[in-house]
Amino acid sequence: MTRFPLYIAGKYQSAANDAWFETDDPFVGGPWAEVARGCAADVDAAVKAAHTAFTSGPWPMKTAVERGELLRHLAQAVDDNAETLARAELRDNGKTITEMRGQMRSLAAVLRFYAGATDKFLGEVLPADENDFLTYTRYEPLGVIAAIVPWNSPLRLFAMKFAPAVGAGNTVVCKPSEYTSTSIYEFVRLVEKVGFPPGVLNVITGMGAEVGPALIEHPLVRKVSFTGGVESGTSAYVSAAKGLKPVVLELGGKSPNIVFPDADLDAAANGVAAGVFGSTGQTCVAGSRLLVHASIREAFLEKIVASARSRKIGNPLDEKTEIGPIANRPQFERILKFIEAGKKEGATLYYGGNELRDPAFGRGLFIEPTIFTDVTSAMRIAQEEAFGPVLSVISFESDEEAVQIANDVRFGLAAGVWTKDLKRALTMVKKIQAGTVWVNTYRKNAPQVPVGGYKQSGLGRESGLHAIRDYMQAKSVWINLT
Ligand code: NAD
Repeated sequence: MTRFPLYIAGKYQSAANDAWFETDDPFVGGPWAEVARGCAADVDAAVKAAHTAFTSGPWPMKTAVERGELLRHLAQAVDDNAETLARAELRDNGKTITEMRGQMRSLAAVLRFYAGATDKFLGEVLPADENDFLTYTRYEPLGVIAAIVPWNSPLRLFAMKFAPAVGAGNTVVCKPSEYTSTSIYEFVRLVEKVGFPPGVLNVITGMGAEVGPALIEHPLVRKVSFTGGVESGTSAYVSAAKGLKPVVLELGGKSPNIVFPDADLDAAANGVAAGVFGSTGQTCVAGSRLLVHASIREAFLEKIVASARSRKIGNPLDEKTEIGPIANRPQFERILKFIEAGKKEGATLYYGGNELRDPAFGRGLFIEPTIFTDVTSAMRIAQEEAFGPVLSVISFESDEEAVQIANDVRFGLAAGVWTKDLKRALTMVKKIQAGTVWVNTYRKNAPQVPVGGYKQSGLGRESGLHAIRDYMQAKSVWINLT
């Protein structure tokens, strides 16, 4: 089996205790590679390597323009190697080749956006109420950044941390998910090729509970950027608090798609179905709650079911496939339990709900698109993230009730509103507690636009211009000119 070691200071190496773990291909349903199981000693070596690269050698001498140039070359390298990166990614997470190709294009766009941003952050000369003093600010990088990523879109989510972090002049230690540890090596290859100095990017693979706290709590780590679930995100926050370290937390969601009777119902049905069944529901912004006006409930459900039924399920490498396998066995079992909970709570299983066993799927981890109706906000399936292709349908009678249900969860990551009435749309935008609200569309993103969560969906924002400033700190300088 292929082995993926750690990557520290530009060198590949085994873990200090020479431990390895297997990584599975979710379509084949079995292991295909072994990955180094890093431990605290490896974390220490990686953070020290990142710190050395931050403080000495070529990296701190690079100008903002030169850092931007490196990111621009990296974006081009990603474009040139998009197919290899896309295939590496889906081997571990089972997402479709079509989606992964799209993600590689948007990954390159993220790198290009921050390539253009590196030299746009200026200090200010400040008009303090003093004669004969020059008073100004400098914006300086923070140091070593811990970048912790989940399994659903590992490279795209890592790029949202790496690009602003190194664009601002920091160095990075990446901790990929234990379920998708391998695609980062293709990225490392490109980072080396375009000329980032050794130690600017280091990779520590391993188990979250073993590597995560050791990395975050390392005294030389200056900031934590974490994307993942609420439970491990909370634990990461506690670890960071011990060293008073700033954090960005991009966590889960239970996002509503709200459909009003005046909407273009065909467009809304496409948006709702793609919003929860696309990526096999394994996206943080999955529109996993459908809030539909009672007057159109039946007609709209028919459209959603038709869309669910028409989606091709199968081999993620087949360009026609729209629903691939669930990314890993624990997640597969979690979704099946979630479906069972919905049945026990008294919701109506309206469509799907089963594991799919088809000889064509081999031992892959497939679950049918699933729709529950007669859901109430009190039910677990209305409150918890399934992170799978499961839609909970709740009907409402008035705009006020729609807002109340939409906000009645601990999350606040995203929401969709489907209406042709501009006033209604703007009122919903204002009243919904979510970091992103889409109107008559869903799951749009761009590097220029901030993302992040209200409530327990996270802290801080990624993406957008300000994100690069969050990887810097201001130094105020007073010079006595007398
Ligand atoms: P997870 O929380 O289990 O793991 C995320 C990462 O954290 C992994 O690398 C894991 O090894 C690490 N980790 C685990 N315990 C840790 C600890 N105690 N300290 C530090 N690191 C630790 O999440 P997952 O199952 O990989 O991903 C799915 C979750 O990610 C979902 O909840 C999804 O909504 C969320 N997500 C959010 C966004 C967003 O932008 N808001 C994007 C994608 C995914």
